[in-house]
Amino acid sequence: MRIPFNKPALAGRELEYIQQAVSNGHLSGNGAFTRQCQTFFEHRYGIQKALLTTSGTAALEMAALLLDLQPGDEVIIPSFTFTSTANAFVLRGARIVFADSSASHPNMAVGQVAALITRRTRAIVPVHYAGVACDMAPIMALAEHHGLVVIEDAAQAIESFYLDRPLGSIGHLAAFSFHETKNISAGEGGLLAINDPRFAARAEILWEKGTNRAAFFRGETARYQWVDVGSSFLPPELTAAYLLAQLEQLAVIQQQRLRQWNRYYAALLPLAQAGCFAVPTLPDYARHNGHIFYLICADRTQRQALIQQLAAAGILAVFHYQTLHNSTFYRAKHDGRDLPHATRYDQCLVRLPLYYELTEADQQTVIDVVRTFFA
Ligand SMILES: *Cc1c(COP(=O)(O)O)cnc(C)c1O
Repeated sequence: MRIPFNKPALAGRELEYIQQAVSNGHLSGNGAFTRQCQTFFEHRYGIQKALLTTSGTAALEMAALLLDLQPGDEVIIPSFTFTSTANAFVLRGARIVFADSSASHPNMAVGQVAALITRRTRAIVPVHYAGVACDMAPIMALAEHHGLVVIEDAAQAIESFYLDRPLGSIGHLAAFSFHETKNISAGEGGLLAINDPRFAARAEILWEKGTNRAAFFRGETARYQWVDVGSSFLPPELTAAYLLAQLEQLAVIQQQRLRQWNRYYAALLPLAQAGCFAVPTLPDYARHNGHIFYLICADRTQRQALIQQLAAAGILAVFHYQTLHNSTFYRAKHDGRDLPHATRYDQCLVRLPLYYELTEADQQTVIDVVRTFFA
């Protein structure tokens, strides 16, 4: 396609830092670049402890391990999300209770969550879709009342806010992603944010393959040994070097994405007002990061025709997510509730190209094709 959906781009000193990582002679994890990335998150977003991981999926898996789930324990997750949000907990034997999206936004319908809580519920996992905040105050209040853990899936939500609070700093735990498609990328990468101190020491042990290696190297323990379960969650320094260069350019990248997002919004709002499709709605409490610009078509047929017309013009537009409650893997395990709003986003939502190097001229081409389609 002449205009791809996404395109990874160098934004600053990525190659220089990778060269420096090689010169440092430390290519495995938890070196100087890793620590700088973690400190960036801790300082900028007020996260108590940040641990860099090999992916957002790995960060979610660490969060699930920290819960010490028992068979039959339940976790409440939106159905309209990426598989990793649920898979991390399924791997630990949890039963997933899927929440519907709200009528006005793909994010979970927070007002319906209370009715999903049972004696077996252990955690709620709000996903900040497109970097738009879920309504966190009622979620945190419910969790407090029922003694639940809140894990924010902030994979898409770097530099997004709920009121004046950065996403990823509100839940007891949170996962960020630096996958190639995210605003800030390292190809593959992620970060676990630990905002509740009761999880901090154990998180570091799980991260270091079940050993007390990190504490040992800080001189806090006399012997380096196996002390708990764990796995290999650390990314190499090469990844952290690339990521640090991207983080240094965060303001520039964000300015560009928000400019593109706002341009789509302004150009397509009149068609939305004329009833052709819906553009994203933004709750008052949410300050978003321009991660995804999407349209909600009237139905699946219209969406397919729009995608085909864009493709004919050399433009790749894509859709997601197949609702998880109705997936091949989970359908028979789901409790049978109908989740109509999640299903509607699954069938009608389409994402337009949005990436750092998307030119104004190419974006105008996309807008023109959409306008022609609905003319
Ligand atoms: C990207 C994404 C993930 C997974 O992150 P990876 O880094 O690709 O493993 C999880 N949840 C959501 C909502 C995502 O968008």
